[in-house]
Amino acid sequence: MSRLETQSQHSEVLRRTLDHALGYVDSLPTRKIAARASLNELRNSIGRPLPEIGLDAVSVIDDLVADVEGGLLGNASGRCFAWVIGGAVPASVAADWLTSTWDQNSGMYSVAPAETVVEEVCGRWLLELLGLPVSVSFALVTGCQMAHVTCLAAARNALLAKRGWDVERDGLNGAPALRILCNGDRHGSVDRAVRLLGLGTAVMVNLPVDDDGRLGVETLRAALESDSDTATIVLLQAGDINTGAYDPFATLIPLAHSQEAWVHVDGAFGLWAGASPKLHHLVKGVEQADSWATDGHKWLNVPFDCGYAFVADSEAHYRTMSHRASYLTHSQEARDQIDWNPEYSRRGRGFATYAAIRQMGKNGIADLIERTCGHARSLVNQIGVLSGAEILWEPSINQGLVRFRSPKPGATDSDHDQHTEEVAAAVRKAGEAFFQTTTWRGHRCMRVSVCNWQTNDSDVERAVRSVADCLESLRTL
Ligand SMILES: *Cc1c(COP(=O)(O)O)cnc(C)c1O
Repeated sequence: MSRLETQSQHSEVLRRTLDHALGYVDSLPTRKIAARASLNELRNSIGRPLPEIGLDAVSVIDDLVADVEGGLLGNASGRCFAWVIGGAVPASVAADWLTSTWDQNSGMYSVAPAETVVEEVCGRWLLELLGLPVSVSFALVTGCQMAHVTCLAAARNALLAKRGWDVERDGLNGAPALRILCNGDRHGSVDRAVRLLGLGTAVMVNLPVDDDGRLGVETLRAALESDSDTATIVLLQAGDINTGAYDPFATLIPLAHSQEAWVHVDGAFGLWAGASPKLHHLVKGVEQADSWATDGHKWLNVPFDCGYAFVADSEAHYRTMSHRASYLTHSQEARDQIDWNPEYSRRGRGFATYAAIRQMGKNGIADLIERTCGHARSLVNQIGVLSGAEILWEPSINQGLVRFRSPKPGATDSDHDQHTEEVAAAVRKAGEAFFQTTTWRGHRCMRVSVCNWQTNDSDVERAVRSVADCLESLRTL
């Protein structure tokens, strides 16, 4: 293929892709949020036989767009309130496109100089935004899950090194024992990190939380003192998945440190309260922790996959991840990502983060965090006054819980659970908004999470109206 041919192939398919992408963005206000196609329909449209011969790029993309259409969830819109799913601000989507076009192998400075420097800058900016110490080391990883792995690998290294054990060389066979004291309401990704690191979930001790979902100081003290000789990781939460609850860091972290424990914080979305002057009080003291895991692809509104790991003991972090090979040229001055990240070859995910932060600025990010919290409160409060609805958790940040009581005479708790499922399913089917359910303190609830930059008052109004309509039609069935 000549150079001109290569260029014209690129230009045709990329221009075409721009049209497809803009068409999708334009459709967001009117398309149903839930995917419409069934599994079988998707398997039929997408599941072609392995192609014997190739196809021109434009046809590949046209077919792709047509084939997946019914299977796309509209979470890029402002009316998806399920799980904790962020959107992506335009500059970060555009930077993500360029990331693929530039196709840098972003493991090291020698192969990706610009990306390396972008990540150095992102690290500095993120620490400042989140109010963490400037000396903290970092890694841009695929998500909070791998941020946990990165941080807890450093914790394992440091705690065992203190007991004269080199875990990088000698592994865990015969190693000194390690235990993890956890907020009992934690996110399951922590358990998976613990499994991946070979520690095993049996070392996790679930500590009970108070009515507000917070780990109490006396509970932690008793647990720490129950076995003060064993190397200990204390896992705290900034933002519970259901309620957005924050552990009281300012008292718990010094307490854990007095027993030489390593404190890791799961702040997948909640750590971003630190970027808002109004909400910063929620994370007071969190800067004293030893490691922190958070996401770019949730509240910061960077495209997937994007998470951030931060480690206070940068030497332990380096010992855990650093890597040498005869064919790799390390930089004497730049920060080679391979020494801080669990991946080898990797995407240049710094560009999208860099672009998101530049588009919003510090003020814009604070506004995003505060605005989405306001929308979560309006959603929960307006849904809460609908007939049969009940607020189980009024958002203190961007997460809330509502429940729908069955109108059946003599309805039991399990009828209410079932009715809550029915209402949420009816709303998803109507397509105006999208919520998921969860079990919290024994009750099925509909979870309300707002973390998309696009959500506005009209989205809230449309979502509330849709819930009201669904409640009404279920009542008159
Ligand atoms: C989403 C989430 C995770 C996992 O993050 P990923 O980015 O999906 O890997 C961990 N903890 C909490 C509290 C979360 O909300």
